[in-house]
Amino acid sequence: MTSANTIFSNLGTTIFEVMSQLANEHGAINLGQGFPEEMDPLDVRQKAADALLNGWNQYPSMLGVPELRRAVAEHNRRFYGLDIDWQQQVLVTSGATEALAACLFGLIEPGDEVILIEPLYDSYLPIVRRAGGIPVLVRIEPPDWVLNREALAQAFSDKTKLILLNSPMNPAAKVFDIDELSFIAELVQTHDAFAVCDEVYEHLVFDGWPHTPLMTLPGMVDRCVRIGSAGKTFSLTGWKVGYITAAPRLFPAIVKCHQFLVFTTPPNLQVAIAYGLGKEDAYFTGLTRDLQAKRDRIGDGLRRIGFGVIECHGTYFITTDFRPLGFNGDDVDFCRAITTEARVAGVPVSAFYEGEGPRHFARFSFCKPDSMLDEALERLAAHFGRADAA
Ligand code: PMP
Ligand code: GLN
Repeated sequence: MTSANTIFSNLGTTIFEVMSQLANEHGAINLGQGFPEEMDPLDVRQKAADALLNGWNQYPSMLGVPELRRAVAEHNRRFYGLDIDWQQQVLVTSGATEALAACLFGLIEPGDEVILIEPLYDSYLPIVRRAGGIPVLVRIEPPDWVLNREALAQAFSDKTKLILLNSPMNPAAKVFDIDELSFIAELVQTHDAFAVCDEVYEHLVFDGWPHTPLMTLPGMVDRCVRIGSAGKTFSLTGWKVGYITAAPRLFPAIVKCHQFLVFTTPPNLQVAIAYGLGKEDAYFTGLTRDLQAKRDRIGDGLRRIGFGVIECHGTYFITTDFRPLGFNGDDVDFCRAITTEARVAGVPVSAFYEGEGPRHFARFSFCKPDSMLDEALERLAAHFGRADAA
């Protein structure tokens, strides 16, 4: 009997959905799936409400509303000094997830090699494969997430079409530094390849570190696509508004793909995000500062309970080593056990690796109200017999 496409029919349900459902079933505090709570700016939501009631509610241009495309170009100039032509280089998408699909389907030819660094966000591999790409995986691992440059250099070949780079990186909370980026940029240029840069956490880099888009490095503006997400920058993940800034020669193919994936994105949300991107510096620095404080709050609490806590330089996520707690089982068992018994959900880090990944690390999201983080820490402390640590 004829059957559905095997790349998709053989896939499991994404770990984020699985853990969120389990958390709901058990009344657990959900520190699994990364969605912020009580952080979404009222003025941005008000703009969307006004636009919904009084504005245009029909198809906007498939490229996005001009206000948002201009705002994305201006954001690139303001934060990174990039000189972007909003008409030739900026596309609005339905979240970064659609942006990634549009870039990968738009750029990959069957048989092209695509370099990816594990741990990786779970939409990458199925889309690369469905586009006919051949994934070439390079792995970094906790606790130090060091990039093995030799392994990366060996992954490149004359068949390499592109590298997909996620920095700041989910779940590693690693922010690639300028030396690593320069090394990657040189490989991309030597092999006449492209880079698709998933930079959804661009405004979530802590301790005063800069976020440097690969696109800003010498020779890279013509080889890069940069992806942002209003979900992360404005703590509005349910809106699914993303944006692509692309080299002019890559832009047309990505747009052609986007036109048949979703065609367009709700116009009222786009207008509100255009307003948001123009907000004063204090908004962006405040977001970073608030999340850094939450990182410290949860990191200190988890350490007191006895977790090994791995350095976190950015994103919503902190990775922990649960071996010191004496748990008998792997990371999937651990995350299920704490969700159902301690009633705090996390996500197993092995879910971000293909094949055998490290098996004793759990990821927690800290983009939550302090009271929720404190309650989660109390529950974990009680569960692991460390009530004194809460
Ligand atoms: N890339 C990474 C690394 C992510 O963590 C996420 C998670 N939300 C996305 C892409 C998808 O972003 P969006 O919700 O805008 O589709
Ligand atoms: N990016 C989010 C995370 O890593 C989840 C996104 C999703 O649920 N698709 O938790």
